[in-house]
Amino acid sequence: MTGVAAGPADTGPAVALPAVGPGPGEADWAAAVAAVRGLPADARVLLICHVNPDGDALGSMLGFGLGLRQLGVRRLQATFPGPPEVPEPIRGLPGMDLLVPEADADPAPELVVCFDAASESRLGGLVDRLETAGAALVLDHHASNTRFGGINLVDPRAAATSVLAEELLTRLGVTLDAAIAECLYVALTTDTGSFRFEATTPAVHELAARLLATGIRPGDISRRVFDTRPFGAVRLFGEVLCRARLEPLAAGGHGLVWTYATLDDLARHDQRPYVLEALIDSVRCTAEADVSCVVKQVRPAEWAVSMRSKGAVDVSRVAVALGGGGHRLAAGFTGRGTVEDVVAGIRTELDKALIEA
Ligand code: 5GP
Ligand code: MN
Repeated sequence: MTGVAAGPADTGPAVALPAVGPGPGEADWAAAVAAVRGLPADARVLLICHVNPDGDALGSMLGFGLGLRQLGVRRLQATFPGPPEVPEPIRGLPGMDLLVPEADADPAPELVVCFDAASESRLGGLVDRLETAGAALVLDHHASNTRFGGINLVDPRAAATSVLAEELLTRLGVTLDAAIAECLYVALTTDTGSFRFEATTPAVHELAARLLATGIRPGDISRRVFDTRPFGAVRLFGEVLCRARLEPLAAGGHGLVWTYATLDDLARHDQRPYVLEALIDSVRCTAEADVSCVVKQVRPAEWAVSMRSKGAVDVSRVAVALGGGGHRLAAGFTGRGTVEDVVAGIRTELDKALIEA
């Protein structure tokens, strides 16, 4: 998410994730290091993060890109599918000069590296690079990751994709500088909700310490990335929060709170869609509901849905059943029809998720 407040609640520690497999093994790390070290001097490298990039997707991609640049990789591009718009709060990240629109991305690079994408579908029209590239490396931390690369560095216990990016950079001999560190710090704070979520292990704080030691300024970064929004967005939030509904009996009595925002709401307040990413953080505060949900209109009958759970319900099951994905405590999908259609689908799947759990 790109928000102004907290990022997606990643899944908790290993104890809360019995179904999760192990992270990358030494052979996977060695293969990833070899894929980078073995590149010819003039190799073209394409970095791709998921559609509608959030702080972790963009931050881990640009931080890794700056690290490759330090290693001497010159023909380097970073991109993501869909409209080439980066949300304002993360537009100031170092390494933005690496970004190219999807249409300008190299059609057949020697190496493609994917960041924070749980499945090929998150790569949109860039998915063909998995076939055309000489090698495909995947860095991700979603439990639902489908291991779609030739080399997969996937660790569902990692708090953010940037944790994997930093480890690979270190194994490649890159020195963390302030620019790389700022990218990785934004990624880490986005996905840990500024160190509030369950995945905030001692190792996460140790990584944060290494990043801060480069001299980056956490106060400035947090204010810019999390605590700044246009006045129009403040008023829009007020309106959308006023129409939130609480359904205490939903989700088997654990409770559901939800609201929605339309394209017309955005237009009336002259706001871009990304400002809505932070809304879920205000909605999920509701004490009376385990599950929270924001339904955001993308097109007349198409809605981007964000879901959060406090732990009683695995919302990734609901999201996967409805064609999306994510983590146990933070997930999403694309809904179709009216708002009521979308919420009706969620109610039904919430009940099923409880029965199956
Ligand atoms: P957010 O609500 O912040 O957009 O997303 C929360 C989590 O759900 C993210 O980790 C993201 O991976 C996942 N997610 C959100 N929307 C979708 C979607 O449409 N498809 C898939 N596969 N995952 C999604
Ligand atoms: Mn992430």
